[in-house]
Amino acid sequence: MTDETSIDIENLSKRYGYTYALRDVSLQILQGEVFVLLGPNGSGKTTLLKILGTLVSPTSGKINIYGQDLKMNGREIRQMIGYLAHDSFLYRDLTGVENIRFYSQFYNLSSKGKLQGRINELLKLLKITRWKHEPIKNLSRGLQKRFDLVRTLIHDPTILLLDEPFSSLDVLSANILKEFIGNMREGKTIVISTHDIALARSICDRGGILVEGRMRQVFKSSDITSASVKAIFERRD
Ligand code: ADP
Ligand code: MG
Repeated sequence: MTDETSIDIENLSKRYGYTYALRDVSLQILQGEVFVLLGPNGSGKTTLLKILGTLVSPTSGKINIYGQDLKMNGREIRQMIGYLAHDSFLYRDLTGVENIRFYSQFYNLSSKGKLQGRINELLKLLKITRWKHEPIKNLSRGLQKRFDLVRTLIHDPTILLLDEPFSSLDVLSANILKEFIGNMREGKTIVISTHDIALARSICDRGGILVEGRMRQVFKSSDITSASVKAIFERRD
């Protein structure tokens, strides 16, 4: 980790009708950092990740990614970002490899040979090579998630946004994913939402707690405990 800010969020708000999904959130995430977003359901975690992933526009506020304004340079910034949604982006009737090839068209990837090599490498690292020709609909949720992660990583993004990647995964898939994140984190900035406090503590450098759209507190990993998080979830002011 360095001291360089990779994601700079300033006074970010998002309103849906009368509901504020995010209220005046300011946060700096550092280059090389694994940052976890904690918070109860409806606290704004997905909204924040979607805004960073350029899928949703903020109502107000500013985001800089490596010094570039997200609003002005969305196209360029999108090439740097890998976004893993809570619900899969994969086509269920296509195989894992067909899905990955389809999505790779949206990025400026060089030669076909290189692309194939990269797909094979990622399939191997996530231990899913033997299922690569199976339609997605025939696979368990854990395997589907791992194929979706290959899709997310195919253009070698510098910034990875993972929305509840561990939820409803079997223990084996969760462990493979956790190990994978640990191994590939170098040189990347990774933002992960979860409501699993123990898991957050085990994988992150820092974590931020969202409650009703407000960033209540930012913690170092070692300070994230069930008691400290619970106290913030329950605080009313
Ligand atoms: P989390 O991921 O922490 O559960 P979300 O970001 O999904 O929280 O939601 C934050 C708030 O914004 C919730 O009150 C939710 O109902 C609302 N919200 C999210 N997306 C939409 C939408 N597309 N339309 C209206 N309200 C939304
Ligand atoms: Mg969510």
